[in-house]
Amino acid sequence: MFKDFHTHTLYSNHGQGHPREIAAIAVERGLVALGFSEHFPLPTGVTEPTDGEANMRWDQIEDYIQEVREAQAEWGHRLKILLGYEVDYVPEADTAMRANLAAYPADYHIGSIHIVGHFRSDHQSWLIDYTAEAFEEGLNEKGGAETVYTRYYQLVRDFAQSYPHQIVGHLDLIKKFNRDNRYFDAKSEAYLSQVEATLDVLKSTDKIVEINTAGLFKVIGEIYPSDPILQMILHRRIPICLSSDAHRPEEVAREFSTTWEKLTRLGFEQLTGL
Ligand SMILES: [Zn+2]
Ligand SMILES: [Zn+2]
Repeated sequence: MFKDFHTHTLYSNHGQGHPREIAAIAVERGLVALGFSEHFPLPTGVTEPTDGEANMRWDQIEDYIQEVREAQAEWGHRLKILLGYEVDYVPEADTAMRANLAAYPADYHIGSIHIVGHFRSDHQSWLIDYTAEAFEEGLNEKGGAETVYTRYYQLVRDFAQSYPHQIVGHLDLIKKFNRDNRYFDAKSEAYLSQVEATLDVLKSTDKIVEINTAGLFKVIGEIYPSDPILQMILHRRIPICLSSDAHRPEEVAREFSTTWEKLTRLGFEQLTGL
């Protein structure tokens, strides 16, 4: 019964598995739909500190599309397979990003904020989910946690209002390294008011918020988004879907059954698909 629209392949340069291998596991696990959402290449000139391992490269995109088409041909009679991208929002490179997206049509997009500005020293993008050290460096350079999470959620809102992506990726990714509220109080009024303002925008722009199980395996050790935010989503009746954010074939639909049980206990009644 489950659908998983957030999966990565070897084309992320930090994941493994060919699309047809991932599709085979999805069939084995009884999924009814599978979406490939490789990281859309960043516009030329936007750099990040991972030696090109955070996103797909331009010289890989045609092969990615080709392999997704092959997976559709091989497994499309067993489950619905969609071609998608996980898309970043880089305001200073917005014109190039829009042109690039238009050149590579897809079935759907996941809109995700991973980049919150860039470092002064080397102008490389600040990936908030890269390492704890880089996260701390960014917090220090950019005025502390409250300033940063306020900026992060503003970016989520701006992105939602200006792009037609269907799914919002890992809504509270900013908490990835915030285990035991180490950097900020995720239950504070200041933090949750940013989330509420964001959810109001996601509701009015008809976005689907993914419930992303990958967070269970990160420093924070819980799904994205966290329980208080799930309650707000429920209250606003914002549609949700389950996502694994798999980076290897065996991670497809990881922890979906347990997470769906948890969600039904909270009061959710349905998952939305594409
Ligand atoms: Zn992501
Ligand atoms: Zn992802």
